Amino acid sequence: MTSLSAKIQDVFDEPACDYNRGKDAKARKEGCARPLTPGAAAGGCAFDGAKIVLQPITDVAHLVHAPLACEGNSWDNRGAASSGAMLWRTSFTTDLTELDVVMGQGERKLFKAIREIKETYAPPAVFVYSTCVTALTGDDIEAVCKRAGEKFGLAVVPVNAPGFIGSKNLGNKLAGEALLDHVIGTVEPDDAGPYDINILGEFNLSGEFWLVKPLLDRLGIRVRACIPGDARYIDVASAHRARAAMMVCSTALINLARKMQERWDIPFFEGSFYGISDTSEALRNIAELLVKQGADPQILDRTQTLIAEQEAIAWKKLDAYRRRLQGKRVLLNTGGVKSWSVVHALMEIGMEIVGTSVKKSTVEDRERIKQILKDDNHMFEQMAARELYAMLLHHKADIMLSGGRTQFIALKAKTPWLDINQERQHPYAGYDGMVELVRQIDLAIHNPIWCQVREPAPWDCKPDLKEELPDTKNEAATLHAVQEFVPTTADDFGER
Ligand code: SF4
Repeated sequence: MTSLSAKIQDVFDEPACDYNRGKDAKARKEGCARPLTPGAAAGGCAFDGAKIVLQPITDVAHLVHAPLACEGNSWDNRGAASSGAMLWRTSFTTDLTELDVVMGQGERKLFKAIREIKETYAPPAVFVYSTCVTALTGDDIEAVCKRAGEKFGLAVVPVNAPGFIGSKNLGNKLAGEALLDHVIGTVEPDDAGPYDINILGEFNLSGEFWLVKPLLDRLGIRVRACIPGDARYIDVASAHRARAAMMVCSTALINLARKMQERWDIPFFEGSFYGISDTSEALRNIAELLVKQGADPQILDRTQTLIAEQEAIAWKKLDAYRRRLQGKRVLLNTGGVKSWSVVHALMEIGMEIVGTSVKKSTVEDRERIKQILKDDNHMFEQMAARELYAMLLHHKADIMLSGGRTQFIALKAKTPWLDINQERQHPYAGYDGMVELVRQIDLAIHNPIWCQVREPAPWDCKPDLKEELPDTKNEAATLHAVQEFVPTTADDFGER
């Protein structure tokens, strides 16, 4: 644990993080760890964060060294997509039992599990995740991985981020450290070129990076590694030969971006593929960085031409929705990069932002929101479910965009809701993704179901029915009376 403690300290003291830079020396030493509530960490722990970052590397076997529940908590709960290998979706765990713990069988079981995976699936690599139980029993996963790697001639990568050490975000960063320590730089590509880039922190949710990659292809820019979305092990292992990088989700992998810049001279910028102008800006920044790194300056003109063409197509498609959505009010309950990039995207088509949560946003994210919204009155740190419900019930927003956890607040307040977090079904990145996002918002807001559910319930607007209702204490009779009234006409539904 000593080396793990040092690693955590290192990750917390991230010089590229604005928040960290703003602290004094003492606060910086204390780090950003928030103590977890015992028993309430599952699903949001450091292990979970590490698994989220690494699992979309699709040809790798992800082996969780733990009792069964840790893997059950974290398996496949995000909508990342693969264009080929599917091994990442197979669940591997050592499934430790109490007997294994009592008999000290953890390391032996882990070694056998790695051998079984190698013999059955022959993957290019096995990633081994430590968890609370195996960290507490003192299993030395680094030593087991090293021994198994030598014995089987296989890359076996220890990911040392047991749940109890901290938050999901800390786990994200430790996953980046595992890649730096054991993967990136281990394969030397024979085809490195001046137009190679890395995309960091892009998860290819619902396949949305596939809406962006064709644009880069058209510019002759090769994505050496998209980490982690739809990545292959060999791409990640040779990512150190890229010329430039774009960091999509800063809070997840900023340490990876910064250290790759220091070790291999790969400059990076933070950008977003959500929204038309942000997509254009990201393309421009990539081209400019490549030119600074020695690429032919002609790429700048080609990029401008592509942007002009794609923007014109996207705006033409969006015009059909502009009239229907102009002035509609949006409440955005998400965080991170989406807190500003989606705000910007929606304002581009004339929607009004009545609030955006900045809970998971960096200082830089917040500054961007302020610039976009022109004031910070619409930024909220965290809104309690009760307040969120009251806001929606009093029609202060026409739609809420959030993750699945808050969907029922919106639905209970009879307000349209759209999932924009990791479980979403539709891709929203790039120009086409923006059109898709607006199409989904339009479908949600103008869904005819809202007219119906907002009408009073038939039993509230049928006084005669109320009078006819028998004594409510008599449950059988009440049920019979309600069953007899089956609304069929518009009048019955209270539409007149
Ligand atoms: S690693 Fe620890 S906190 Fe995370 S799911 Fe497993 S037991 Fe729970």
